[in-house]
Amino acid sequence: MTVVAPLIDGFGRVHTDLRISVTDRCNLRCTYCMPLEVVFKPREELLTFEEIGRVAGVAATLGIRTIRLTGGEPLMRRDLPELVRQLTAVPGIEEVALTTNGLLLAEQAADLHAAGLTRLNVSLDSLTTEGFERVARRPGLDRALAGLEVAKREGFQSIRINAVSIKGLTEAEIVPLARFCRREEFHLRFIEFMPLDAEESWDKSQVLSGADVRAVLERELGPLVAEQADDPGQPAIDYRWVDGGRVGFINAVTRPFCDRCDRLRLTADGQVRNCLFSTVEWDARSLLRGGGADTEIATLIRDCVAAKRAAHGIDTPSFARPSRAMYQIGG
Ligand code: SAM
Ligand code: SF4
Repeated sequence: MTVVAPLIDGFGRVHTDLRISVTDRCNLRCTYCMPLEVVFKPREELLTFEEIGRVAGVAATLGIRTIRLTGGEPLMRRDLPELVRQLTAVPGIEEVALTTNGLLLAEQAADLHAAGLTRLNVSLDSLTTEGFERVARRPGLDRALAGLEVAKREGFQSIRINAVSIKGLTEAEIVPLARFCRREEFHLRFIEFMPLDAEESWDKSQVLSGADVRAVLERELGPLVAEQADDPGQPAIDYRWVDGGRVGFINAVTRPFCDRCDRLRLTADGQVRNCLFSTVEWDARSLLRGGGADTEIATLIRDCVAAKRAAHGIDTPSFARPSRAMYQIGG
């Protein structure tokens, strides 16, 4: 598909990736993301599959090529495979991926794969019941592991494990997670804790840096060799052990990757965002429900891209947290 004018922001970054949140609901309550007590958006405020498909279709004409479904917990949205089917059929979309906590994956993996989902990211912070529940504040480890097993059998092109690193909370998980992922041939990625927790307890001193995690891995499991990035827009820096296994680091706080960011986001309630840390949103839902034309949706997306800041600026004195937490934005 020829793109007449790609989505280029004021800093020359070309946008080709759209993260779509399909719900703010979740079956876990991870400390770094959600509050314990939560009021979810009424269902009528969430975009329908038809509305999501329309935004994706317009975005594809502007050069969006990959879509990642997220949430909240995306597998809690009924009939998700149907949405995957619709999105993989959008002209120009080359790949649809999913980020999930995996609790409902055992039941849904086959349908998702058959619908055209190729890549899976499963978030898993601990392999012990105690560790899992300390972070997730709900049970679910056995279901997540069962989901991973079914997904592996299903033969997805890629399965990645995401683990958030928090000082004083997740140090003991580093080596067991790495051993597990090497054995199971999952690609492990450690993500630095970002100031997007609903309880607003984030403090820089809690960020367990990717460099510190890497040092532990090298000490315990042997030297790591840097890998060439498959995709220049990817936020992770990946490494490989010479005797097998890959591990990556998304050092969003200590080594921001804003200069190569190629992402846009659509929240479950239909707001377009140009950054996880954006404090402004562009209201696509009002256009969709108010008879807006595709050209108007395209203009809204372009305006959003044009307003993108150079960097998230977490370390700058003027940094202001977004008013919505990770589960409301879509990570
Ligand atoms: N529920 C799904 C899951 O957990 O994979 C999808 C949504 S979740 C918001 C997406 C990703 O964001 C997960 O990998 C999660 O670990 C990560 N995440 C959530 N809050 C975060 C934070 N404050 N800092 C860093 N990563 C965070
Ligand atoms: Fe739910 Fe994912 Fe947030 Fe955990 S990180 S509370 S699983 S949305």
